[in-house]
Amino acid sequence: MPLKMRGHAVASSVYDELRQVLDTLPYTPALRVVRLGDDPASVSYTRLKNKRARELGLDSQVIALPLETSEAELLELIEELNRDELVDGILVQLPLPGHVSESRVIEAIAPAKDVDGFHPYNVGRLWAGEDTLEPCTPAGIIRMLDHYQIELEGKEAVIVGRSNIVGKPLAALLLRRNATVTVAHSRTRDLAEVTRRAEVLVAAVGKPRFIGAGMVRPGAVLVDVGISRVDDKLVGDIDPAAHELSTAYTPVPGGVGPMTVAMLLANTVKAARLRRG
Ligand code: NAP
Repeated sequence: MPLKMRGHAVASSVYDELRQVLDTLPYTPALRVVRLGDDPASVSYTRLKNKRARELGLDSQVIALPLETSEAELLELIEELNRDELVDGILVQLPLPGHVSESRVIEAIAPAKDVDGFHPYNVGRLWAGEDTLEPCTPAGIIRMLDHYQIELEGKEAVIVGRSNIVGKPLAALLLRRNATVTVAHSRTRDLAEVTRRAEVLVAAVGKPRFIGAGMVRPGAVLVDVGISRVDDKLVGDIDPAAHELSTAYTPVPGGVGPMTVAMLLANTVKAARLRRG
């Protein structure tokens, strides 16, 4: 029977650890989640992050701005939050509307408060192997694999997807763990041949059930990052038929998703401790 890696269980062990740390701090770490507009997915993600942060006892607020907020106004708000001594973490929910440059916004956030880990300073430190605020989804995946004692050293790891938020930073983290890492994408030739080499296969594509059983090496560990809505159900990138071939897999929902929020809160606490000493 393959092992089902349960994100909620691992996330709750992260929250337990964070509660112990918070008990020792003479201050309450503060998170500000900034959202432009009312896109339903963004509203639901920002609400969930805020809810979990408050449940943990952090000082958390969503700052909801109108969709037509200008880039200059958003940058001004970020500057204010950067200057605010009581704010430890700043997250701007992506995607942003077309009239706002995501890269300018990400680069405006003080690296010490960049709890998403997307600022080029933190990205550079990640690839240099330095301690940094790591992007939440990749960090959550590593934490989950550690929790289930999945050995990574020397393993063939294949990531399908090369986004800045999942595929690329996960490659850096897997390399740090001494896996042999391949990053596949839409121009990869004979993708199935590449994925069948994987002892650890991560799918971060965003296409429902894209990885079929025929693309999986028997005995592989399967990590499914994808979330798509099909007939009102959440579906991953990996066809559940492939789970049977694996030694361990993450379900969708209830796999990687809960880890992303947990690691965001871990980053907020870490950012607070690093900045406040
Ligand atoms: P993204 O920016 O859209 O990137 C998708 C990647 O998939 C790209 O690198 C793309 O290649 C690759 N791709 C697309 N079609 C392909 C094909 N036919 N063969 C091989 N590769 C292909 O997506 P993302 O932001 O990384 O997110 C991926 C999925 O994860 C989405 O479903 C998203 O909702 C989900 N997600 C979940 C969490 C979570 O917490 N669980 C967090 C973040 C994202 P190119 O680069 O060549 O275009």
